[in-house]
Amino acid sequence: MKASAGGYARANDLNHALELLSSANGMGRVLAGGQSLIAAMNMRLSTGDLLVDISRLSELSGVKDAGDTLKIGALTRHAEIGTNPLVRRHAPLLADAVGYIAHAAIRNRGTIGGALAHADPSAEFPACVLALGATMHVAGPEGTRQIAAEDFFEDIFATALQEGEILTAITVPKAGEAEVQVIEEVARRSGDYALAGLCLVRRDDGNRVSLFSVGPKPVLAKGAMAALDGGDVEAAVTALGAEIDPPSDTQASAAYRRHLAGVLLRRAVARIEGSKA
Ligand SMILES: Cc1cc2nc3c(=O)[nH]c(=O)nc-3n(C[C@H](O)[C@H](O)[C@H](O)COP(=O)(O)OP(=O)(O)OC[C@H]3O[C@@H](n4cnc5c(N)ncnc54)[C@H](O)[C@@H]3O)c2cc1C
Repeated sequence: MKASAGGYARANDLNHALELLSSANGMGRVLAGGQSLIAAMNMRLSTGDLLVDISRLSELSGVKDAGDTLKIGALTRHAEIGTNPLVRRHAPLLADAVGYIAHAAIRNRGTIGGALAHADPSAEFPACVLALGATMHVAGPEGTRQIAAEDFFEDIFATALQEGEILTAITVPKAGEAEVQVIEEVARRSGDYALAGLCLVRRDDGNRVSLFSVGPKPVLAKGAMAALDGGDVEAAVTALGAEIDPPSDTQASAAYRRHLAGVLLRRAVARIEGSKA
C-alpha cells in the first residue's frame, strides 16, 4: 500500500516552517527524517494534507556546548549522535543508545527530534532523555517554550507538542566527573525494537532509572530510584515491577517483559559497580 496523495512543501527556515504549518489548518505534518512518518503514511496509519519538510533547516541540526548543558538540534541524525565527541563525553547514554536503534540506513536518516516527537514507547531516545532529565525546546505560533522531558511524553505516540509546534532542540545536563550512564535492552534480533529496555544514570545526588517497551510511554521509575539511592537493589526491582504496565503481544507476554525489566536493572547496576571495581 502507498500513502494517499497530499501536499508537500519544503521550509526555507524555522519561521517559514511555522507559517506553513499554520496555513494547513491542523492538517500539516512535520517531515524530518521520514523514517517513521513515511512508513506510517504508507500503511495509512497517518495522514497529512501538507507535509512540511524541515529536513534542510541547518539551524536545527548539530550539537553545541552550552556551558552546563549540551544543546542538540532536533534534526541531528541518530548516526551523528552516535559519533559526536561532545555527546560521547557529556551524554554517553545517547551515544550508546544509537547502537540499539534499527540499522545504519535508518540511523543515517532518522533524527533525534523525530524520534522524540514520534514518542514510540519502544524507542530508546525517549527513555534516555527521561533518565538524563533533559529539556525540550519548542517553537510554535505563540512563540517558544521549554518542556521538561518528564512532562513531554503523554501517551502512546502522544506528546505535549501542540498543533503547529516544532521541536527545535534538546538540552541535556553534562555528565558530572563521577557520573555513570548505562543502557541495557533485550531484543529478539539486533536492531529490532526492544522487548524491554532500561537506562540507569548514577549521579552524585542519586540514581535515575527509566524504561522503555514496558507500557504506553517511557517510564521514569521513581520508586526504583529511591530504593537504589538507599542501596537496596532487590527493593528497586520490586518497586520497578509496580511502576510499569507492560503489554502482552505477539513478541512477549507482559509477565516476561516485567521479568526482563528486573533483569535489566540488576544487569545495569552490576555494570556500574563493576566499572568502579
Ligand atoms: C525498520 C525500522 C526500524 C526502526 N527501529 C527503531 C528502533 O529500534 N529504535 C528506535 O528508537 N527507533 C526505531 N525506528 C524509528 C527511527 O528511529 C525513526 O528515525 C524515528 O523514530 C523518527 O525520526 P525521523 O526523523 O525519521 O522522523 P519522521 O519520520 O520524519 O517523523 C516522525 C514523527 O515525528 C514528527 N516530527 C518529526 N520531527 C519533528 C520535530 N522536529 N518537531 C515536531 N514534530 C516532529 C513527524 O511529524 C512525525 O509525526 C525504526 C524505524 C524503522 C523504519
